[in-house]
Formats: sequence, C-alpha cells, structure tokens
Amino acid sequence: MTSFEAFLRSALQEAETQGLRRKLREIDTIRGTTITIGGRELHNFSSNDYLGLAGHPALAAAMAEAAGCWGTGATASRLICGTTKEHAALEEELAAAKGTEAALVFSTGMAAATGAIPSLMGKGDVIILDKLAHACLIDGARASEALLRVFPHNDLEKLKSHLKWAREAHPAAKVMILTESIFSMDGDLAPLAEIVALKERYGAILFLDEAHAVGVRGIPVGVRGNSGGVLGQGARGLAGELGLGDRVEIQMGTLGKALGVSGGYIAGSRALIDFLINRARSFIFSTAPSPAVAAACRAALRIVQSEEGDALLSRLHQNLALLASELKISTPQSAIIPIILGSEERALAEAARLLEAGFFVPAIRYPTVPRNTARLRITLSAAHEPEQIKALAELMK
Ligand SMILES: *Cc1c(COP(=O)(O)O)cnc(C)c1O
Repeated sequence: MTSFEAFLRSALQEAETQGLRRKLREIDTIRGTTITIGGRELHNFSSNDYLGLAGHPALAAAMAEAAGCWGTGATASRLICGTTKEHAALEEELAAAKGTEAALVFSTGMAAATGAIPSLMGKGDVIILDKLAHACLIDGARASEALLRVFPHNDLEKLKSHLKWAREAHPAAKVMILTESIFSMDGDLAPLAEIVALKERYGAILFLDEAHAVGVRGIPVGVRGNSGGVLGQGARGLAGELGLGDRVEIQMGTLGKALGVSGGYIAGSRALIDFLINRARSFIFSTAPSPAVAAACRAALRIVQSEEGDALLSRLHQNLALLASELKISTPQSAIIPIILGSEERALAEAARLLEAGFFVPAIRYPTVPRNTARLRITLSAAHEPEQIKALAELMK
C-alpha cells in the first residue's frame, strides 16, 4: 500500500470509529415524497423540496422544451457565449420577485456565496458571522482574507460589540455581517429587523442567505396568523416578507430547494450585480448553468408567484401545524424541524429505528452541526400527505 492510500484509509477508519463516516445512499425511484432505496419504499422526510416542485410536470416540461431548443449545455461561461435569453429572463424575473434592481444566477448557492464574498471583501476588511452560518458563508469569509469575528447564534449583544469594535479598530474597513434568514440545521429565524438596525447604525453591509426561506415564508394572511402577507409573494424570502428587502445589500439564495431545480443567485443593486459579473471568480471561471435549468427555474418562479403557489404554501404550513400538534411542539417557523439528541450514536440509532419502520429522516452530525448536538432533521413538504405526517409523529412519540 502506498503511503497516500494508507493516509486515506486511516482517515476513513478514524471517522468510522467516531460514528462520523458518511456514505452515499442510492435512490432507485422517487414518487413525490415516497422514495425507494435498496428495494424498500420509504416516506421521505429529508428533502428540501418544500413545495414539491422538483416533481412538478410544468418544470419538467419547461426543461424538456428548453433542452430541445437550446441543447443540454450552455457550452461556455456566462461572459463568453453562455448567456442565453433564458438566463437573462430568469435574472430579470428573480430581481422582480425579490424586489431588487438586479439579480445574478450562479451554478449553485455554494458558488454564489464562495464567489461573491471574497470578491466584495478583502484584507483589511472585517466579516462578522453567526456561529451557525452555513459552510458556504464560512468558506467565502475565509477565502476573502478579511478579519473574521464570530457571534454566538442570534446573539445581538455580541454582534453589536463586534460591530463597535470593528468601527473603532478599523475605521476605514468595509464591515460585512453574514447570516441566514432561516438556519439550515435548526430551522429558526434570524432577528432580522434588529440585525438590519444594527448594521445601519454601524455602517455595515448585510449579506443574507435566504436558502431555506424562499418559497417557505411570505405566505397569505390567515395561514400563519399575523404575517400580513400578500398573495403571490412566496419568492421574496424573509427580508421581503418583513419589508426589509431594500435595506439588505446582498440577498442570496438557492434555486435547488423550494424552487425544485438547481442553481444559486444573488439579488441586489445593479451596481452590485455588475461588480460581481466582473469580479466573482465562481461566476467568471465556470460554465454557465444549462439553459434548460434556467427555463425550469423560470417555471418554478411562475408557480411560486401564482395562486397555485399560494395553495402549496398553505399546504406546507398546514402540514407543519399538523406535525407540531401531533408532536406537541410549537408550530415551526420554517419547514425544518430539528430533534436534538446529543450524541452521534443516539442520533444514528434513532434514524436507523425510523428507517426500519419505513421513514427516512436523516441523522445530522458533526461537522454539519456542533459536537454533542447531533440530531434528527425532519423537513416537511407541501407534498406530504397528512397520513404520512401522523404516522411519523406516532413513531417519534
Ligand atoms: C443548501 C444551502 C446553500 C447552498 O445552496 P446550493 O444551491 O445547494 O449550493 C447555501 N446556504 C444554505 C443555508 C443552504 O442550506
């Protein structure tokens, strides 16, 4: 065995011993929220397809039609010959949905964050991150070579003291706050109004990752009580829902979760988007997303902003209310419900027990979440049937 091969095997063995080794699961078939793995039918409570759009025939039709028209690949990066009318239209429609001047599509949300952050921030600048920020924000921050400061999750006092320090110690620096509107592994909300007020007070910039909020928040009045929502607004994200959209400099999101396709985007001012077109390396040095993918995203956006989209949102929120009442927990603020169990072993054993009973609920472990906070992460979709939710809750009691 070469020493390189020995290195690989010992790293894997160590992960195995700690209960941290990950393996891929191959899905044989998908039919709505039912998947088959290894010949077994399972109720899927692990996907981020919150509205069930990934299986929507209108998206598949849009994708097929565009592939027939444009071919399968974009054939080049966006700045060479990879920008089709589909890409341009998607970006215009995204900007309109978010209420910003402009938007820019990347091949993934990960690429959007890791490309944009280091293009905007550099040595001598200061980045302040929430402790639970997604890996794409952390990697983008690190790559920027800016000074980094972390505040405990949603801790406004600590955020404020970092901002104050940054302003005093680095008066000429750009200061950027990185956070999520809905946290991916906890499903809770950032105190966005307070964060916006703080960043304005200290002259900072806010980069907000709305990956889990778009398509999930911004819903009709009466469904979530006092949202004050307007119909057809499901693509706005939390910033839009709270009327804070034009006070957040950089709104980032994914097209791969509630929108059911793939890709990432940044929405903001025209100058921001033009700057990113010129500077964001993951945008410049990467083949453009397929025009067929862009067409499917456009179809998803149309649905989310239609009456059908409102009905799907209502359905999702009814499902969330049902699970909450069955489990006797308060109604979740997002489609993500973490059940924190602590040790890796306990989370794995619980996931295995549910799997045995026909329910796929993933165990989430370090390094995705901090040590000793291993958990089951239930995600709900508008496509779940009430019977599936009741059966899951029964098993979890
Ligand atoms: C999934 C996710 C991303 C990455 O988006 P992709 O399009 O999947 O690359 C970014 N931020 C958060 C919070 C996410 O959950």
